[in-house]
Amino acid sequence: MRRSLVVGNWKMNMLISDATDWVGSLLGKPPFPETVEVVVAPPFTALAAVEERIRRSCISLAGQNIGPEPEGARTGEISAAMLKDAGCRFVILGHSERRQHFFETDAFISRKIGVALASGLGVIFCVGESLEERESEHTRQVIEHQLSEGLNGLDVRQFEGLVIAYEPVWAIGTGRTATPEQAQHVHRIIRDWARQAFGENSAENVRILYGGSVTPETSGPLTVQPDIDGLLVGGASLKSDSFYDIICSIK
Ligand code: PEP
Repeated sequence: MRRSLVVGNWKMNMLISDATDWVGSLLGKPPFPETVEVVVAPPFTALAAVEERIRRSCISLAGQNIGPEPEGARTGEISAAMLKDAGCRFVILGHSERRQHFFETDAFISRKIGVALASGLGVIFCVGESLEERESEHTRQVIEHQLSEGLNGLDVRQFEGLVIAYEPVWAIGTGRTATPEQAQHVHRIIRDWARQAFGENSAENVRILYGGSVTPETSGPLTVQPDIDGLLVGGASLKSDSFYDIICSIK
């Protein structure tokens, strides 16, 4: 049985005071359903403040990025071990904004996945097709390519440290959420791919999240789908009220 997971990705938003207000407001609401695991990914500058406030709660922490090296002379980078040390359980890797604006390739992402897993960080690995790729009917090919390149060389045990997030690029920050049927179709492709690559158990156990303009209105119908195990939420995670409503809507 896969436990539902909701992850809030704040991206490059929220000052420390905004972040602590957000946590205070979320934890001031009635408790979440125990069936849902909740994770928040603040910017690096707010990690410590958020960590301190969620320490005894049921929310856990994720980082939004790491460098591809374990340590050393890489000015400006944050290592996997540093995120662990700051209290993170997860890191988000392969996000389309990093692929698009920072030119991260599948091979580069794969190196980062390797160092994250070696440091004991869980990885939320994002894949997704562009609108052009969808319209030219290349979605399956693009997703399978990102999976096989990004997860190249992992063994079954390492694969257990992963959550996969299907985030169609055309849905991220656009207000255009994939329909539950469109998302389910790709989630099934991902689970089938995992079955081929890592076997039946790994495929059944891996959690596959949907991300892309999720709102409290769209979250319930999406998570009814059999292969949608939770959500990666950007814009709607910035307000504690809408994030809370999304958590409570999970089916
Ligand atoms: C994201 O960036 O991971 C995301 C899903 O963003 P949004 O919900 O704003 O589309």
